[in-house]
Amino acid sequence: MTVLRFVLGDQLDRALSSLTDLDPDADVVLMVEVADEATYVPHHPKKIALILSAMRHFAAGLEADGVAVDYVRLDDRDNTGSFTGELARAVKRHGPDRVVVTEPGEWRVEQDMKAWETALGVAVEIRADDRFLCSRDTFSAWAEGRKTFRMEHFYREMRKRTGILMDGRAPAGGEWNFDKENRKSLPKGLRAPGFEGYAPDAVTEEVLALVADRFADNFGDLDGFRFPVTREQALDLLDRFVEHGLARFGDYQDAMAVGEPFLFHSLISPALNIGLLRPREVIERVEAAYRDGAAPLNAAEGFIRQILGWREYVRGIYWHAMPDYADTNAFSADRPLPGFYWSGETDMRCLAEVIGQTRREAYAHHIQRLMVTGCFALLIGADPVEVNDWYLAVYADAFEWVQLPNTHGMVLHADGGMLGSKPYAASGKYIDRMSDYCRHCRFDVTETEGENACPFNALYWRFLHRHGDRLRDNRRMAMIYRTWDRFDAERRDAILERAETFLETLS
Ligand SMILES: Cc1cc2nc3c(=O)[nH]c(=O)nc-3n(C[C@H](O)[C@H](O)[C@H](O)COP(=O)(O)OP(=O)(O)OC[C@H]3O[C@@H](n4cnc5c(N)ncnc54)[C@H](O)[C@@H]3O)c2cc1C
Ligand code: SF4
Repeated sequence: MTVLRFVLGDQLDRALSSLTDLDPDADVVLMVEVADEATYVPHHPKKIALILSAMRHFAAGLEADGVAVDYVRLDDRDNTGSFTGELARAVKRHGPDRVVVTEPGEWRVEQDMKAWETALGVAVEIRADDRFLCSRDTFSAWAEGRKTFRMEHFYREMRKRTGILMDGRAPAGGEWNFDKENRKSLPKGLRAPGFEGYAPDAVTEEVLALVADRFADNFGDLDGFRFPVTREQALDLLDRFVEHGLARFGDYQDAMAVGEPFLFHSLISPALNIGLLRPREVIERVEAAYRDGAAPLNAAEGFIRQILGWREYVRGIYWHAMPDYADTNAFSADRPLPGFYWSGETDMRCLAEVIGQTRREAYAHHIQRLMVTGCFALLIGADPVEVNDWYLAVYADAFEWVQLPNTHGMVLHADGGMLGSKPYAASGKYIDRMSDYCRHCRFDVTETEGENACPFNALYWRFLHRHGDRLRDNRRMAMIYRTWDRFDAERRDAILERAETFLETLS
């Protein structure tokens, strides 16, 4: 009896639910590189190379262990370009009794998957993705009856349920959250460990040539590819982070600096999201470092919260709220995304820096995505569809289940506050406090009016003014509205005029 086990490009884990009962003597593993997935947004070339190279390495590992792998390459002549088309061809080739697959990370793919059994006339078993610590059902049970969700409540539940960073029934160190210690800017002279990365081998070189040939026009540099593409490399990256970055992760997790794209971040998200690392093993490794005295609690807790809290939470929201979630637009935002998101050509140093780094590395850390490119898109009222597509395209770790809630919910507040209690709107003051960008910028971050004033400042007030009906009653925003109300009418008009004049330059 042949079972065809269909493994997708972000499921590269030997312990995957669809592989747990693999019979190497009878079963076939199917892996396909398809144009639909490579082109539904113009992915960064480094992201495409990462996934294809990691898939080819994973398939080679299975074959080395005696598993039959049916691997379809992007440039195979008869490749139909879609999951459904390739599965149909493979069913014809192998005549399996059934197909086994692990649920996908994207709603759109799940719709296809659910139709396979009828369309292809073969039994299709879809298994839960147990790489996550919170199943979709468990999240739905938690969410049941709640109108709005808060990550902090979910996170505490997860700590209690898993026992991670718990001392008996109490949180380690007596607090759930050490965020107030984690907002330092980078002191002069402190050097980050940097990211050496992993030199391409022959498999990766072949992929790089293919990507250079097929995706040369996409935003992003292919040169300097050095992501981990095997589990061994991903584990090595995790080791290096725990040894050289973790201890300072907490203190400087919100910091930004010119020419320092990585600071003390782990850079593991691409590896995690495609299956080369498991979230639980990452968390356990970091908790062990704390218990052994190798990392302070504010660093370990801050890091673990990102994975046990945010990562699981956004995935839960995604599956709970899709497909309607993607269509919400609470602020009726409809401005086209400025062209400089695709070129980096702007005088605003913060944006030029983050977009330039994104082009080179397919990477920006959380605060850069949230408070620079994200905050600017929020303040100008950029169209959520265009913003979401940009984030999905340009980052190597971008898969819709994690990208969409972060962008649509956390950054744009387009979901009306389902994911977060208030929009992360901020003036240039925040960027100035957390980075040295403003010192290298032609705009003056201390000014709000006039053509040299930092655009974030007037845009911030304009945003609050425009959306007062929705935001004024928010307890967390009351103080800032009191400040706006204290400005005299002349000042308010001058600020709004500066904002409008600036916005005209964008079109
Ligand atoms: C607008 C926006 C879009 C984002 N899009 C993505 C995306 O497409 N894919 C993605 O993996 N992350 C996304 N994030 C979350 C976060 O920015 C990245 O996970 C992080 O920058 C990856 O770099 P790192 O591995 O060095 O993370 P670290 O700072 O070292 O954090 C460790 C890990 O925590 C997890 N994590 C941290 N924050 C979040 C979060 N908000 N949501 C989910 N997981 C989190 C990631 O797995 C990350 O690897 C987005 C955040 C924002 C604000
Ligand atoms: S002054 Fe304003 S535009 Fe310039 S870097 Fe600072 S925040 Fe960005």
